[in-house]
Amino acid sequence: MKKIKKIAVMTSGGDAPGMNAAIRAVVRSCAYYSLGCVGIYRGYEGLIEDDLVELNARSVHNIINKGGTILKSARSKGFRTKEGRQKAYENLIEREVDALVVIGGDGSFTGAVLFNEEFGFPVVGIPGTIDNDIFGTSHTLGYDTALNTAVEAIDKIRDTASSHNRLFFVEVMGRDAGFIALNAGVGAGAEEILIPEEDLGLDRLLESLERSRRAGKSSSIVVVAEGDKSGKNVYELAKYVEENLPQYDVRVSILGHMQRGGSPSCFDRVLASRLGVKAVELLLDGKTNLMVGLQDNKVISTDIKVAIAGGHSINHELLRISDIITT
Ligand code: ATP
Repeated sequence: MKKIKKIAVMTSGGDAPGMNAAIRAVVRSCAYYSLGCVGIYRGYEGLIEDDLVELNARSVHNIINKGGTILKSARSKGFRTKEGRQKAYENLIEREVDALVVIGGDGSFTGAVLFNEEFGFPVVGIPGTIDNDIFGTSHTLGYDTALNTAVEAIDKIRDTASSHNRLFFVEVMGRDAGFIALNAGVGAGAEEILIPEEDLGLDRLLESLERSRRAGKSSSIVVVAEGDKSGKNVYELAKYVEENLPQYDVRVSILGHMQRGGSPSCFDRVLASRLGVKAVELLLDGKTNLMVGLQDNKVISTDIKVAIAGGHSINHELLRISDIITT
């Protein structure tokens, strides 16, 4: 493989807190190893449009603490076409870029693998998504911050719920993955947690809420992932409970995009720093088509195709624990 002298870095797909810290780590690693570095604005879309910027160690000062991504993110239809990828390749060659670090989710990695297969261009992925739904890492960038944001918000909802003896359905992000719902639910002491991976059944929900009421609880919180398996959205769930348990005063709160924003947690900053350095070092070692990740608190790398195909299974033990501690 050609010697790596210049690396490009981009953020792609949904933004996540910690992406800036990862960009910083990639740029600073390049500076440390005397490599050139360019940032690509707006993911693959910016790459096709040649929207690139030369970065040095000083370009990334004061960003480790910032949410979002200074390079912006986008979804690109153009990169799904052969012509789009060809243009992207030509732009990288024109700028004498030898390798690409993609910070994003499985869609972004799928694009990166295709790009490597077509042009032999070295790529390494850094998992950046609040959903934590990527195989090959115990934590994706942004997940820990999103969890803390969700818990803080649910704590506040709990204050008003208990003042008025209300039942709140709180919807958190996670169309296909219940990691945020499950962990934030346990962390915030939710009475019930509804996730896409498990159909707990509506009867069970009613029974549990009725039990809580009889046990004398003054408020109840049900945390619902966007893609909860019951097939009902959060408003339909609230209505269903209101109809079946008229004693409850039910409210709905959707946390929405606030879960994506905010200053990254210390955990996400450290993770981003570790993964960013590893990504550059892998490329320098002549490696490609890998995703860096965390396993047992060690930085590891996984074949990017395996990471895309693998999925990430929910911790069933946590569901059991939640049942016990909300008795
Ligand atoms: P998130 O998990 O936040 O959704 P993601 O990386 O999975 O992040 P996607 O929108 O799925 O987000 O993918 C980001 C971009 O990657 C797409 O807009 C597209 O440009 C590129 N991409 C995704 N799938 C492919 C594919 N099969 N071929 C080429 N490019 C792809």
